[in-house]
Amino acid sequence: MKRTRERIGKTEALFRNVNEGIREASDRLESEVGDFICECGDSTCTEHIRVPLEEYERVREHPTHFVVRPGHVKGPIERVVGRGRHYSVIEKLDRVIARIAKRLNPRPETT
Ligand SMILES: [Zn+2]
Repeated sequence: MKRTRERIGKTEALFRNVNEGIREASDRLESEVGDFICECGDSTCTEHIRVPLEEYERVREHPTHFVVRPGHVKGPIERVVGRGRHYSVIEKLDRVIARIAKRLNPRPETT
């Protein structure tokens, strides 16, 4: 069970890194919306979600927050903390997964 959670945590962190690249590219194109990939942690999920860059930035302020497609929220290990038209913002509640999310945070906290 722990191994499953570690795999989920690492998959999410990987998709988050891909999205950081998409954010940069969208910025360069002066787009206000990014065509991000779902960060739900299912390695077979390749769905895209359109998220305003402003909102994406707010999500990235929290290392345990992720953007997913509305139907891709996984029960007790996470909860919805925000919602857009095409996406949900979730917070990781599972301790193992939250720890991985913080360890692999692409934007280390400066405090
Ligand atoms: Zn997904």
